[in-house]
Amino acid sequence: MSKIQMMTPIVEMDGDEMTHILWGMIKEKLIRPFVDLKTVYYDLGLRHRDETNDQVTIDAANAIKQYKVGVKCATITPNAARVEEYNLKQMWKSPNGTIRAALDGTVFRAPILVKGIEPCVKNWKAPITLARHAYGDVYRNSEMAIPGPGKVELVYTSASGHEERILVHEFTDKGIVQGMHNRISSIESFARSCFSFALDLGQDLWFATKDTISKTYDQTFKLTFQRIFDEEYAEQFKEAGIEYFYTLIDDAVARVMKSEGGFIWACKNYDGDVMSDMVSSAFGSLAMMTSVLVSPDGCYEYEAAHGTVQKHYYKYLDGETTSTNSVATIFAWTGALARIGTINDNSDLVAFAHTLEEKTLEVIAEGHMTGDLARITTISNPEVLSSEAFLDAIAEKMA
Ligand code: NAP
Ligand code: MG
Repeated sequence: MSKIQMMTPIVEMDGDEMTHILWGMIKEKLIRPFVDLKTVYYDLGLRHRDETNDQVTIDAANAIKQYKVGVKCATITPNAARVEEYNLKQMWKSPNGTIRAALDGTVFRAPILVKGIEPCVKNWKAPITLARHAYGDVYRNSEMAIPGPGKVELVYTSASGHEERILVHEFTDKGIVQGMHNRISSIESFARSCFSFALDLGQDLWFATKDTISKTYDQTFKLTFQRIFDEEYAEQFKEAGIEYFYTLIDDAVARVMKSEGGFIWACKNYDGDVMSDMVSSAFGSLAMMTSVLVSPDGCYEYEAAHGTVQKHYYKYLDGETTSTNSVATIFAWTGALARIGTINDNSDLVAFAHTLEEKTLEVIAEGHMTGDLARITTISNPEVLSSEAFLDAIAEKMA
């Protein structure tokens, strides 16, 4: 059998711990036997980030801009314990944060549905993809405790020195205040990423805020989405037969619970933080979740939604058998390969990616799975496989 050729490479970002071990096995067992894999390789493993003073992360982000598609392994975001463990020069920033800032992107997360792992919400038949705005609001706030009676104001001083102020509250006793912001350009990028992704998936886009209460802040989100939609996307949505739908956040939550799924739900930063955990746990597990960062100019970076699975890695190092779920990492690879295949009109590569996804899910649906899924499956007497045996079972089906 001749291998499927790639016309242009994708950016490959290797990572840390257990997911790094899975990374190598996925390439050897599931991809290289079928595809003449072309990647531009960056080692984002913590040691190499430290050696390069994190330049490797910046180089990888720039490469994604050049090649349009990247696939990333989970990486350690260092904390104090990691600085000691790896004897780091400094507590490097989260690579995901660096890449997200460079691409100005929005993260889309969707559950991977499979027979035997049933959503808690019975009427959810198709995945709900959550798009979370990743800039500003309460995540970049300024807060103050108010010790006693007095006046709190918001003051804007323009570049030319002109001042505008409004009263926040006239305190008669102790209290608290919070200031937050967003940028129109960031909201515009968020809107464009969401509309483009909806067109790519051929799914409706929902967006919700609390604009009835927040008449300037949330209203600006609503109006910005509507303006970008009318000016740039309305025609394309009509042609694709999909809809953009705006409603209040509380109405959206009620509708989501009663829906059948199969749409994209765009959320402001805080709503996205909260709702993505609700949606993902209601659908099953973080290891059954795809995650893709989409930039407004159409660069795609695929990854797993979970971390490096540190506990399993230490067991692995001790020579114990692990049962780590590789589905999200496999789907990161298939997402990236299908995307570059679509860009290059390479239908063989797109078909390969879809087949690998199907075969992966078939193995699970037939009752062979890793421990995390065995604990929640509705299939009786599932066979619990090791990390490697699960990949071998998929490889056997692929052959
Ligand atoms: P984690 O790696 O997501 O793992 C937390 C726990 O969830 C695991 O101990 C395991 O539970 C379960 N789990 C997660 N993924 C699994 C999988 N594929 N298969 C089976 N079980 C899975 O989170 P963490 O341990 O809090 O973080 C470890 C490192 O990952 C940290 O250094 C953090 O900085 C990094 N991280 C990276 C990313 C990223 O690169 N995108 C995201 C989050 C965290 P049991 O132990 O009960 O089996
Ligand atoms: Mg959260």
